[in-house]
Amino acid sequence: MLEAEFRARFELWRAGLAKDPDTDFDPTEPAPDLQEWLYETYCNHGEVPSGQFAPLVYARRLALVSRALAAVNVTYAASGRPPLDPPLTPTVDASTGTIMVAEQPVHALDKAGVAVEVADGFQCYVMDTQWFVWPLCPRHGTGAHPELIGGAAVWHCSAENHILGPVVA
Ligand SMILES: [Zn+2]
Repeated sequence: MLEAEFRARFELWRAGLAKDPDTDFDPTEPAPDLQEWLYETYCNHGEVPSGQFAPLVYARRLALVSRALAAVNVTYAASGRPPLDPPLTPTVDASTGTIMVAEQPVHALDKAGVAVEVADGFQCYVMDTQWFVWPLCPRHGTGAHPELIGGAAVWHCSAENHILGPVVA
C-alpha cells in the first residue's frame, strides 16, 4: 500500500473514532505526542474496534497521569511545604472508570493537556486538605494556576500575566 493511501486510511479511522460515542478524548487534538501515538497505534494494531482501543487509551492516560503527578509531587516537596502524607496518587472512579487526581477527572490524552488537569487536581487537593494556595508566585504572592500556553503546561500568574515555569520540568 502506498504511504499516502495508508495515511488516508489512518485519517478515516481517526475521524471514525472522533464520532464514536465511546471515545472519551478528542482524537483531532493536534498535540504532536498524541498524534504520533495514534498513528503508531494504527500502524501496530490496525483498525481496532473501540472495545479493544479503550484499554490502550486507558494505559496511555494512566502512564501520563502517573508521570505528571510524580513530577508535581516532587515540585511540591521541594517547595518547603509540609509533605503530603501519603503523596497524591491517581485513583479510578469506580462507576465511570475515569482516572482521577483527587476530585479532578482526567480527560486529556496528550502530555500537556494531562499535565494541566493533574496540576489542577493537585492544587485543589492541597487547598482542600492543607488549607493554603500552592504554588504562590514568588514575585506577587498570589496563587499561580496551571494553564496550557503555546502547547505547554505551565504555572501561570495572572497578576502580571507571566509564566512561573513548566508543570512537568
Ligand atoms: Zn506573578
